[in-house]
Amino acid sequence: MYTVNNFLKVAASGGSERIETIMEKKEMLYEGKAKKVYKTDNENCYIVDYKDDATAFNGKKKGTIAGKGVINNRMSNYLMSLMEKEGIPTHFVEELSERETVVKKVKIVPLEVIIRNIAAGSFSKRFGVEEGSTLRNATLEYCLKDDALDDPMINDYQITAIGAATKEDLETIADLTFKINDFLKAYFLKLNIELVDFKIEFGKTPDGKIILADEISPDTCRLWDATTHAKLDKDRFRRDLGDVEEAYIEVAKRMGLIGE
Ligand code: UDP
Repeated sequence: MYTVNNFLKVAASGGSERIETIMEKKEMLYEGKAKKVYKTDNENCYIVDYKDDATAFNGKKKGTIAGKGVINNRMSNYLMSLMEKEGIPTHFVEELSERETVVKKVKIVPLEVIIRNIAAGSFSKRFGVEEGSTLRNATLEYCLKDDALDDPMINDYQITAIGAATKEDLETIADLTFKINDFLKAYFLKLNIELVDFKIEFGKTPDGKIILADEISPDTCRLWDATTHAKLDKDRFRRDLGDVEEAYIEVAKRMGLIGE
């Protein structure tokens, strides 16, 4: 409906007022592991295009998860619009198509921000804590986004020392991240899903505001069925557990994003 000769008619909502604008998808700015990002003729917006490509272990394992791009696009947009209602600022503007979304232009803060509620993955390995152990408190950790360095873990002092973020920005990021965890944990529990851990990224708008960016999906969260503890996320791909597509579909169904 929106794509006519590469011209996209977008009702871009900027804050409280709604701006009707014709948005042209321009040259690709960046191709990541799971998404492509395009410039538009609106200097405040980008268009992201979700792919079915899947990678793990810093790109060493590669594959495809059929339909993943469609599910992650829908899921991320839906969760971000719910969070906006909770007062959490996000980059989400408007879903254009199954795989394309208009987002606010930001400069990504080069940190992977990770919250954990239950031990799993690298946390279990690093600290010798059995996978599945409930943690006494949620943990917050940062990794520096740098593929060449294998995204090393980094602490607050190191982050400000190298200028990856300021102290003020880190405080905002930590506050927002715990709010996002509270919201997502409660949301998924209603769907009988445990939010084990997740990774998020933040961006800075041209006027200096820190907002949630990137995506929230089974690519970036560990989601376990609360009864059976079955994994419903990218660990099925990482660990060759099978039924990868089915896991993504199951989460989307429970969220009411696709029919039975
Ligand atoms: N994660 C991610 N991208 C990364 C690394 C981790 O989305 O590049 C997510 C991962 O899906 C999990 C959480 O961050 O939900 C914590 O991952 P962990 O540090 O345990 O690393 P992993 O075991 O995935 O290597």
